[in-house]
Amino acid sequence: MAKLRNGPGAFERVCSFCGKSGDMARRLIAGPNDIFICDECVDVCRKILSEESRDLSTQFTGDIPTPREIKSYLDQFIIGQENAKKVLSVAVYNHYKRIANPSKEPEEVEIEKSNVLLIGPTGTGKTLLAKILAKKLKVPFALVDATTLTEAGYVGEDVENILLKLIQSAGGNIAAAERGIVYIDEIDKISRKGENVSITRDVSGEGVQQALLKIIEGTVASVPPQGGRKHPNQEMIRIDTTNILFICGGAFVGLDKYIARRVVQHPLGFGANTSGGEKSMKELFDAMHPDDLIQYGMIPEFIGRLPITVSLEELKREELRRIITEPRNAIVRQFQASMAIDDVKLEFTEAAIDAIADMAIKQKTGARGLRAIVEKLMTDIMFDIPSIKGGKHVVITQNTVEKAEPPEILTLQKSA
Ligand code: ADP
Repeated sequence: MAKLRNGPGAFERVCSFCGKSGDMARRLIAGPNDIFICDECVDVCRKILSEESRDLSTQFTGDIPTPREIKSYLDQFIIGQENAKKVLSVAVYNHYKRIANPSKEPEEVEIEKSNVLLIGPTGTGKTLLAKILAKKLKVPFALVDATTLTEAGYVGEDVENILLKLIQSAGGNIAAAERGIVYIDEIDKISRKGENVSITRDVSGEGVQQALLKIIEGTVASVPPQGGRKHPNQEMIRIDTTNILFICGGAFVGLDKYIARRVVQHPLGFGANTSGGEKSMKELFDAMHPDDLIQYGMIPEFIGRLPITVSLEELKREELRRIITEPRNAIVRQFQASMAIDDVKLEFTEAAIDAIADMAIKQKTGARGLRAIVEKLMTDIMFDIPSIKGGKHVVITQNTVEKAEPPEILTLQKSA
């Protein structure tokens, strides 16, 4: 076996697989008994293994939870958004059922892919929904931002990099990535700008929608392993996107006006109520039609690939209050768990929770702002408390939240 080779005047380390010398290879990894392998041979081995695992598992073999099971799992993490949770549970169930039972005969009915479009203001749980679904189904998950994408040939990322993220999240297992879930955020930002697109090329809008079409619909894509731009002579990873579930999300600010123009006489602004024949935002979004999205600037072919559209509602005060304390990984629970390690019982009064919810409403960032608010008010407390000896009971009050006053600190009564 090739081990050490006599170089000019010195011993030279070589790859035991391909014979490449140490200075030719980027990296030589040593094994026992003076055996080495170079980075390129490692790459080849990995590809062989991933091809094998693809052959072994062309089917989705995981247990598919029923829509009710999926919904009740989502309920543990996501407050409100009942309709979205229900629609998504059914869509995801059907998607994985389809993968587990591929049609065998050409004449059999082929169940089509059910990619999803989530529409709703920022911080209402769109990303969270997609993330929790992937967790429940134990499939790889990638989160990408549509605004970083551009049409091939322009500055920015090629759309194929979305798939690279999914492959990375699957730990390089292509077969697993081929059943994963991709969440594309800010999809509304790649809407066509204006009606007339013929004069200048719309690099970041329509072009990206066109480029995304194929991978969303299902194709065998070639992905550059290092990401960034494709260039000739580069080894590509091939990945079939037919069974990848794409969930796109966006705020679509102003879409209500297009819907209103179609369904009611008088267009209305954000948050208008139902009195006097006017429609609420919820009623408007319930009445949404693909044409409204096309008017907004999405191309018809793209909308056609997202057959399931769900709108998420702006979170109300009561829901924000619940988000602070209720979900399995609620922010308050996280701080309580962390402070319990320092022998501290952490309590938020009802009024403090109201105040946090009200602040988030003012900031108009939905539930997204809650963590930042709580983090900020906890900074001083987290700084001081660990230095105070003995068990403590820290009470966060309305004044701690609104006026940055110190919390009440009581001595912890140990239960007998
Ligand atoms: P977006 O709708 O902008 O994608 P996210 O899903 O990223 O919003 O929400 C940001 C954060 O806010 C989440 O990580 C979660 O902590 C919280 N959050 C938002 N909506 C909800 C919800 N309905 N229930 C529980 N937490 C939520």
